[in-house]
Amino acid sequence: MIEKIRKFMYKRNGIDDLFYFMFILYFIIYIVNLFLKSLIIDIIGIIIFIIMFYRYLSKDISKRKKENDKYLKLKNKIINYSKSNSIYKKCRKCKTVLKLPLPYKRGINHAKCPTCGCMVTIFTLKRQKIEVIRKK
Ligand SMILES: [Zn+2]
Repeated sequence: MIEKIRKFMYKRNGIDDLFYFMFILYFIIYIVNLFLKSLIIDIIGIIIFIIMFYRYLSKDISKRKKENDKYLKLKNKIINYSKSNSIYKKCRKCKTVLKLPLPYKRGINHAKCPTCGCMVTIFTLKRQKIEVIRKK
């Protein structure tokens, strides 16, 4: 029996990071839908489940690997973004991209654009850390 499974799984994609992600996503959707009982969410869950197993059993390993790499890249981007302690905002007047430190206290505040002197409205931040990222 185990030998049969092994033969069946030979040269198939199997479990990768994207599989785990989809599994968790499916699980979350399933739990959420226990309360919402929406047919659309149900269908989305089923589609995710089908894709998940299609990828799992797929013999086109190089294509599946590419998908997995794309997912990992995106995941890293999101992780890095959430780790960074700065936000990027475009000055509405001169379109200069400003790097602003993240607020340490909530509330609307203003920063002066170093290029044109225009006031940029943002959440509270340390003014002295403003950096010009890209001038237009
Ligand atoms: Zn400006």
